[in-house]
Amino acid sequence: MTGEERDRSEEEVNNILSDFSQFYILLLLSEGPSHGYALIKAFRERTGRNLSAGTLYPFLHKLQERGLVTQEDRPVGKKPRTIYSLTKKGREFCERLFERFAAITASAIEPRLETCASCGVKIYDGGYYEVIDGRKMAFCCKHCAAAYKRGGHHDHDDHK
Ligand SMILES: [Zn+2]
Repeated sequence: MTGEERDRSEEEVNNILSDFSQFYILLLLSEGPSHGYALIKAFRERTGRNLSAGTLYPFLHKLQERGLVTQEDRPVGKKPRTIYSLTKKGREFCERLFERFAAITASAIEPRLETCASCGVKIYDGGYYEVIDGRKMAFCCKHCAAAYKRGGHHDHDDHK
């Protein structure tokens, strides 16, 4: 990839992610009650994209109609602000949504994970690599690599 191609694909990734705006709004609300401006600000910090009032407020309105969100005017500093919070039903809805999302991302990521050549666990983070007989082998840890070289199957409990 050239630098320019990388920039363009980065932009495409950002565009696709910003279509997750409804998902992000719910994610932010699930972290606690918030007012509209704070949601817009947090959205920009997390995604690097702007969330327009024209996207946010109609969506909040729709969530209220469905009984997932309530609004309440509370003073923040000197000004009254409209604070939005998830209802019990809204929190349950978010839980289902996040579970579904986790399942989707896991099914996308899992096949790309390497497994330890010795004990077979999936290597999520780091891992230990060694070249054995000219092949780069992946292990979860150096104990597994040592066990593999000894020719034995390594039981994960042996670490301790
Ligand atoms: Zn292992």
